[in-house]
Amino acid sequence: MSAIVKRVEIKAQKRLKALLRDYFVNLDEAAKDPTRRVAWCTSVGPCEILTAMGFEVHFPENHGAQLGARKVSHLHIPRAVGVGYCAESCSYMTSDIGASLSGYSPLQEAYGIEGPAKPDLLAYSTNQCREVQDWWNFFGRRFDAPVDGICPPTHLGEVTSEHIAFVRGLLEAFIQRTEASFGLKLDMDRLKEVVSLSSRASTLWRQVLDTATAAPAPLTFWDGLIQMAPVIVMRGSQTAVDYYDMLLAEMQQRVSDGVGAIPDEQWRLYWEGMPVWPKLRELSDKFFDLRAVIAASTYCNSWAFEEYNGGDPLAWMAKTSIELFINRDENTKQAFLEEMFDKFAVDGAVFHNARTCPNNTNSRFGMAQRLREKRGMPILVFDGDLSDVRFFSTAQSMTNIEAFIEQLQEGRR
Ligand code: SF4
Repeated sequence: MSAIVKRVEIKAQKRLKALLRDYFVNLDEAAKDPTRRVAWCTSVGPCEILTAMGFEVHFPENHGAQLGARKVSHLHIPRAVGVGYCAESCSYMTSDIGASLSGYSPLQEAYGIEGPAKPDLLAYSTNQCREVQDWWNFFGRRFDAPVDGICPPTHLGEVTSEHIAFVRGLLEAFIQRTEASFGLKLDMDRLKEVVSLSSRASTLWRQVLDTATAAPAPLTFWDGLIQMAPVIVMRGSQTAVDYYDMLLAEMQQRVSDGVGAIPDEQWRLYWEGMPVWPKLRELSDKFFDLRAVIAASTYCNSWAFEEYNGGDPLAWMAKTSIELFINRDENTKQAFLEEMFDKFAVDGAVFHNARTCPNNTNSRFGMAQRLREKRGMPILVFDGDLSDVRFFSTAQSMTNIEAFIEQLQEGRR
């Protein structure tokens, strides 16, 4: 089937480009200004605390994704391997370390910026994986900067008040150490303000994603991967809130006008696992040509947190940081996926076995098979990687995707 119909561009995209430029330029300026401070933070780490303390925040995973999307990760990973990092460990980490050693950054071509802003502090939460700690430690040594963070309990089923209180204590201790190291004092009212903004952006982001419950879906997983940038890197700012207000209005308009991201949507699918950043265009074109909309994904929903309704901001941070899908046990993850399959009325699901990220891959211990059997739903599992193209076969994957859609067609006959 060839693409005859055209994609509908998202109008807000132009604004997003400008916002991202402002964000990276501001970070670069902060790093060069001795009166300002930069912190690096994991994607669902304690960034609201850092922002409330006056740090500008850089997210290395975003830089890793940019290296992947630029299709250059595999060129830099060997440099990290050369200093002892395994080629089969997180390719965000190895490409980011390798690019730094090579003196390369996608920020150079995109914004004329030499590279990620030099950190005064590297802060993490291992709620997603231990790799981030090792990744941050590399840069802590490289920049002679302190590395600090929290290690919450992982693989949780039910999240209890004891878990929340424990993680809240970890956050408090982190604040005390940061205050002591930098001679700062956290203003709790400012933290409440930042948490409110963070939560507001996150809620709007969830509402944007939920517009894809409509058929045709006004946006796809591929759009979501681009549109999610503010909820990660600008979390806790009014800018992110304003952006998602605008994007939500555009998506709601699409729904009321019956405008789909894929104009004659035939199939609705769910994407489980990491994206394949270097192959976004090829994959999105393939699904577009097959008229298959990826209506929802675990990945894009990872930044859709529960709303903050006032009260203790540290308790909210503790709760949201351990309620994450990636931090849960197998049964909780499976129940979440089933809820999403129903909510978005999908015909099938695609599980990405990302070779260098076992933490965000859920096809390794029988979950796809169990879901197939329980729901009688076709599920495709394919091998690839988030960044390292050496683990992804384009020809093989495209053939598998075509065969999968044929299987869906058979089921409809
Ligand atoms: S979750 Fe996976 S991709 Fe993300 S930092 Fe950890 S190992 Fe890397």
